[in-house]
Amino acid sequence: PLLVNQIAAGEVIERPASVVKELVENSLDAGATRIDVTVDDGGRELIRIADDGNGIPADELPLALAAHATSKLHSAEQLAAIDTLGFRGEALASIASVSRMRITTRARDEQGQLAEAAATIEASGDQLSDPAPAAGAPGTTIEIRDLFFNTPARRKFLRTASTEFGHINELIQRLAMVHHAVAFSLTHNGRKSLDLSAERERARRCVAVLGKDLEEGLLAFEHVDTPERGGMQVWGLAGMPSLARATGKFQYLCVNGRPVRDRQLTHAVREAYRGLVPPDRHPVAVVFVHMDPAEVDVNVHPAKAEVRFRNPSAVHGLVLAAIRQRLLAADL
Ligand code: ADP
Ligand code: MG
Repeated sequence: PLLVNQIAAGEVIERPASVVKELVENSLDAGATRIDVTVDDGGRELIRIADDGNGIPADELPLALAAHATSKLHSAEQLAAIDTLGFRGEALASIASVSRMRITTRARDEQGQLAEAAATIEASGDQLSDPAPAAGAPGTTIEIRDLFFNTPARRKFLRTASTEFGHINELIQRLAMVHHAVAFSLTHNGRKSLDLSAERERARRCVAVLGKDLEEGLLAFEHVDTPERGGMQVWGLAGMPSLARATGKFQYLCVNGRPVRDRQLTHAVREAYRGLVPPDRHPVAVVFVHMDPAEVDVNVHPAKAEVRFRNPSAVHGLVLAAIRQRLLAADL
């Protein structure tokens, strides 16, 4: 199924950052408390994700690399109420079909008992090695080398190392804001660019990502809708108008625990700052929205962080009001 896997990869694996996203989400699904991401040459040469999660039992390694094999779905009903982050058992198979992959993993069983040794397996194109015993810490390390080496047309579309790394950096920052209790690090060409310790409070993680120098200028806001109106919750940090930037990069939007991009939400933020920030500037803002999962589809496309709200204007109104009220209450 090499071609099938490569086609699947074409749909979701656009660039190194897409690989990082799939692997980090797998680490999160595996209950990792620490995730270390290392990339060389913007991820074109090497992507390595090391986690301290549950690991993969040696005898399940070949299965984990088979297309449509997932350990996370056990029924069709679960497909509808999907709460893990994977995209239905395709990621590892797709990535391996267009790269050289090595997995080293040491599993813990349900009783917390650690496997005697780690196991390693290599996969590339349609080649798959037998699992072999190896040395390795508890958890899983996945290394991807030479992404798209066998699909030259796609390799050609990769941008410069610094552009590709920029995408990876932004992705890790967004995921780190949502998963504040997990420690993250990011290293590029041997230089550590992010080093985030586990935090008990989300606000602290958000400040760590945004930069300590912004801390003074961030206003926390919160609003909870009445149960009759759906019980939607909004929490976030609104930057003082003076912090507004030339780019929208400092806006972090999350819905039900996932980083998203959404025009409604972006627009709500812009409206909240109307008259306070010139139209060509972008406020610094972190917005977390929580709502009934039936009210939102965050699975519109596995690779794109888009959402579809059942009632977009209600979400828009709530976010706008929550931020606006906070700004007006502050002594600006
Ligand atoms: P999915 O995430 O949709 O299940 P993937 O192809 O991403 O599909 O992963 C296949 C399987 O490999 C997962 O279901 C999981 O059992 C295992 N797996 C992948 N990465 C990890 C990891 N970092 N730790 C533990 N298990 C993992
Ligand atoms: Mg997955």
